[in-house]
Amino acid sequence: MNSSTLLEVSGISVSFDGFKAIDNLSFNIGPAEMRAIIGPNGAGKTTFMDIVTGKTKPDEGHVIWGEKNRSLLKLSESQIAREGIGRKFQRPTVFEDQTVRENLAMALKNKRGPFDVLFYKKTREGAAKIEALAEEIGLTDELPRIAGELSHGQKQWLEIGMLLAQDPRLLLVDEPAAGMTATERDHTTAILVEAAKTRAVVVVEHDMEFVRRLNCKVTVLHEGSVLAEGSLDHVTQNQDVIDVYLGR
Ligand code: ADP
Ligand code: MG
Repeated sequence: MNSSTLLEVSGISVSFDGFKAIDNLSFNIGPAEMRAIIGPNGAGKTTFMDIVTGKTKPDEGHVIWGEKNRSLLKLSESQIAREGIGRKFQRPTVFEDQTVRENLAMALKNKRGPFDVLFYKKTREGAAKIEALAEEIGLTDELPRIAGELSHGQKQWLEIGMLLAQDPRLLLVDEPAAGMTATERDHTTAILVEAAKTRAVVVVEHDMEFVRRLNCKVTVLHEGSVLAEGSLDHVTQNQDVIDVYLGR
């Protein structure tokens, strides 16, 4: 694997009760790249994320990570998270009874281990980190608010902020725009585009306008393998892609 690759999956397959959800799938992600993954329902997009994060182990193939070409297949989910792979699920999982500031402080604490949550709330360095994260996700004005009172979109951004607090090298995001208004989707795009300047961000999304604004390479999955890859214009003109995905 060369130095322009952060994650390489090669020849992975996984079956559930005889059904091949992932079928000899291979592709690479670079170190500071935005990548969109699109494809019809059941194409294997979420299963791909399950495999990278260690939730599902493939029957065959390799998942190779980082400069040391480390296999992720031997690692547990928590070891993979500590390697610097963060994942955002569709439903936000913030601490509803805590403030935005406390949520971010807890996410920072988890990274640093020995420091108390109070370290981030009471020290200048801790407060500055929380402020910087809040700025990045556009929630500066919401820092004192109870997270449970935030809108759906704001909760999603807070969760992205909590993942960024862990400083992942790869961030996997499954359908971030679902249930968002157009304005919220724009803001989500901006957060992810900014995040991808310093890390790899892989976004599964159905909303083509959202994918267009990500302005990145697109991988189209179908029946568990890559159907097409390239710019959005390139893949949306591909006849196979039109037949199995866009034309329906
Ligand atoms: P996508 O996210 O692209 O819509 P998924 O990766 O969720 O697709 O699913 C791919 C296929 O694998 C689907 O047919 C789905 O029903 C099946 N599948 C996924 N996870 C499991 C599981 N844990 N057990 C059984 N079947 C599964
Ligand atoms: Mg899915």
